[in-house]
Amino acid sequence: MQAHEILHDLEATGALLNGHFELRSKLHSNRFFQCALLQRHPRVFARLCTALAAKVEAANPGPLDCVIAPALGGIVAGHELARCLDLRSVFAEKQDGVLAMRRFAIEPGARYLVAEDVVTRGGRVDETIALVRQGGGTVVAVAVLIDRSAGQAAFGVPLFSLLEMAPEVWQPGHCPLCRAGAPLVHPGS
Ligand SMILES: [Zn+2]
Repeated sequence: MQAHEILHDLEATGALLNGHFELRSKLHSNRFFQCALLQRHPRVFARLCTALAAKVEAANPGPLDCVIAPALGGIVAGHELARCLDLRSVFAEKQDGVLAMRRFAIEPGARYLVAEDVVTRGGRVDETIALVRQGGGTVVAVAVLIDRSAGQAAFGVPLFSLLEMAPEVWQPGHCPLCRAGAPLVHPGS
């Protein structure tokens, strides 16, 4: 898929929002990608995940056994990627404020693809990578639908993204939208 086709899907589904947002990273931005709104359209979402899976397959980063995603945002993408790549699919969830393996165990020796919907600073991907390694698994690569990090996210393994979206983000004290008095939205993500 071409970048303009991907952007068309994001805008047509309402997943790409314009406004004044506080991101999970606490930075402010004039754009927000709300993946749940994309997931309302399973066939569109599947098409995008298929394109991302094809990128991973084409690059062939190494044999894979399982996809792991951090809840909640990454679960559907991880599941869809696993279906495309014919891998197992698991997810990690918050427990007492930190990401943990609650209903799945990491398989020692298994090779994992870490999946996420959107990466800004990559904190949840870092936590997921740590869980895999603590459990004796190997992280082969990371696959995300939207990389908002402008090249800042680096995980020490290959990173595949469907779309890099250079974000306009500001520290809260330097945000022009705050200065303009625009109401701040905390999008659930
Ligand atoms: Zn602001």
